[in-house]
Amino acid sequence: MIEIRDLHKRFGDTEVLKGIDASISQGEVVCLIGASGSGKSTLLRCVNGLENYEAGEIRVDGIRVNRDDRSIRDVRLAVSMVFQRFNLFPNRTVIENVIEGPVYVKGEARSEATDYGMTLLERIGIVDKADAYPSSLSGGQQQRVAIARSLAMRPKMILFDEPTSALDPELVGDVLAAMRSLADDGMTMFVVTHEISFAREVADRVLFMDSGRIVEEGTAEKMLSVPENDRTRDFLQRVL
Ligand code: ADP
Ligand code: MG
Repeated sequence: MIEIRDLHKRFGDTEVLKGIDASISQGEVVCLIGASGSGKSTLLRCVNGLENYEAGEIRVDGIRVNRDDRSIRDVRLAVSMVFQRFNLFPNRTVIENVIEGPVYVKGEARSEATDYGMTLLERIGIVDKADAYPSSLSGGQQQRVAIARSLAMRPKMILFDEPTSALDPELVGDVLAAMRSLADDGMTMFVVTHEISFAREVADRVLFMDSGRIVEEGTAEKMLSVPENDRTRDFLQRVL
């Protein structure tokens, strides 16, 4: 579903991604961990074409990701991204936020998009908030709306960039539960997170990134219990 080969990316003089190789199969949940500044967000942004890169190749569902190419539209339809900050439209209700993409980007009929949107809100446990405005919701509820909004586009995979790190601790659990239910339904997910227990319980594989390189990868069990790389060990000691 995602194929990344020898990806290099720089900002000015600084090389931020120094030859990344990674692949994610259909239905797989892969967690990406690593210190702040190691290049995790940049990698995710390259995958859905929000950033250009200088060398290497990314394929998403077989389509080569190139921002300058017309195919970028197909990439963006295949891949949804959930950010740390949820960026809901403040002047639209929850359900209006959810159907925005399907109606205005994909041209779906409003009634159909609304039906599907309500199903998603139901599934994610906030259908009672359908007509509320985002400002009346907790951060955790807003993030779940953002997840429903991503799902409404019927993506083939979802990228998550630290979806719970802007939330108060007591709100994290509901968002992780929503993500876990997506994983159980077979969604392909690439998740940047510091929630090590989520990685341990949900991820099929964990990648550890350090200074622009993936320095270790393996099953969650192996990576999080018996990491081989010194830097992985140091990092885990700090976050656990
Ligand atoms: P992470 O998500 O792992 O914290 P990022 O991908 O955000 O790391 O950043 C990796 C490096 O790239 C950092 O040194 C950051 O300062 C730099 N960087 C990220 N975005 C930009 C940008 N738009 N312009 C210049 N430098 C950037
Ligand atoms: Mg980041």
